[in-house]
Amino acid sequence: MSGLAKARRVVVKVGSALLVGEDGAPDRAWLADFAADAARMRARGQQVVIVSSGAVALGRKRLGLGRRALTVPEKQAAAAAGQSALMRAWEEAFEPHGAPCAQVLLTRDDTEVRRRWLNARATVETLLELGVVPVVNENDTVVTEEIRFGDNDRLSARVAQLVGAEVLVLLSDVDGLYTADPRSNPDAKHLPRIAALTPEIEAMAGGANAAGGVGVGGMATKLVAARMAGAGGCATVITIGARPRPLAAIEDGALATVIEPSTTPAAAYKAWIAGSLAPGGALVVDDGAAAAVRRGKSLLAAGVRQVQGRFDKGDAVVIRDLSGAEIARGLVRYESADAARICGLKSEAIEGVLGYSLGPLVHADDLAVASAAA
Ligand code: GLU
Repeated sequence: MSGLAKARRVVVKVGSALLVGEDGAPDRAWLADFAADAARMRARGQQVVIVSSGAVALGRKRLGLGRRALTVPEKQAAAAAGQSALMRAWEEAFEPHGAPCAQVLLTRDDTEVRRRWLNARATVETLLELGVVPVVNENDTVVTEEIRFGDNDRLSARVAQLVGAEVLVLLSDVDGLYTADPRSNPDAKHLPRIAALTPEIEAMAGGANAAGGVGVGGMATKLVAARMAGAGGCATVITIGARPRPLAAIEDGALATVIEPSTTPAAAYKAWIAGSLAPGGALVVDDGAAAAVRRGKSLLAAGVRQVQGRFDKGDAVVIRDLSGAEIARGLVRYESADAARICGLKSEAIEGVLGYSLGPLVHADDLAVASAAA
């Protein structure tokens, strides 16, 4: 069981080899079939984010660069010219299903610098709420060699973390991980399920399977991606993409390797809030609010006595009780000056004072209670 049929959010990584034909043009038949497959999941209420390669491959043809090795500026130029062709191909594929696509180009910084991460997350979140299919790629045109992801396996794992996906599907040309290279070793055994990425498993991917998979990433980068996704609470499924309805095929039990996550998306998100952020300020709350927060409820402005320090909307803040003890950390929805103006007020009064309201000061989803986080 891959969990694919039940997942609320799924990220699917589609490699260049799947959607760019031998002639260097988009493989429209494959794309149309894949879009129908994804639309089937959307009709069940699932949200699908696509991480698509193919910009450089399509750009080569457009710019008449043939198959020769490209310099870095040529590759970046090809990506720029190919990315619009790539999006056109995706738009056309989803059009019959009435699903608009949206281009999201990310760099590694966008997923590692917190403010940009929050921004990217908010945008993709909004696209999903609006029923759009986000099509993500690396912003190859502007990234330099040192700061590239370089392969869309790892990018897709970051995207899975960004959206809190339950399943990441890596569509490639191999049906998963084997104990040895199945092309040369008849005793090689397929591994349908990996509960933990042990050094032994990693060694399998680093050895005989290393070159498995065309495109930039081999099996080793797929396992790096699976580890990243797993730390975000997301399972990874590795299987062959070049077949009709590859997502339905996974649900129907096609040969695949499922790598189980080491946590859940919600727990991973709360651990990230609790641990990896330098808090910008503090909110001191009354006893009623402290009790509510300890029970995992949102922090309302009414229960806040004092706002300490300076912070922006989206920053991490410490929540303290009247004795000064830390009871939680959370991402605050208002900047410090506005928070100070509304502290102690009932929720209905916020709009009258600020001219806008974003609800509670810290929403329950963005709150990591101290004891639970420890
Ligand atoms: N971002 C690159 C492209 O669109 C591909 C990277 C990869 O295939 O992993 O051409």
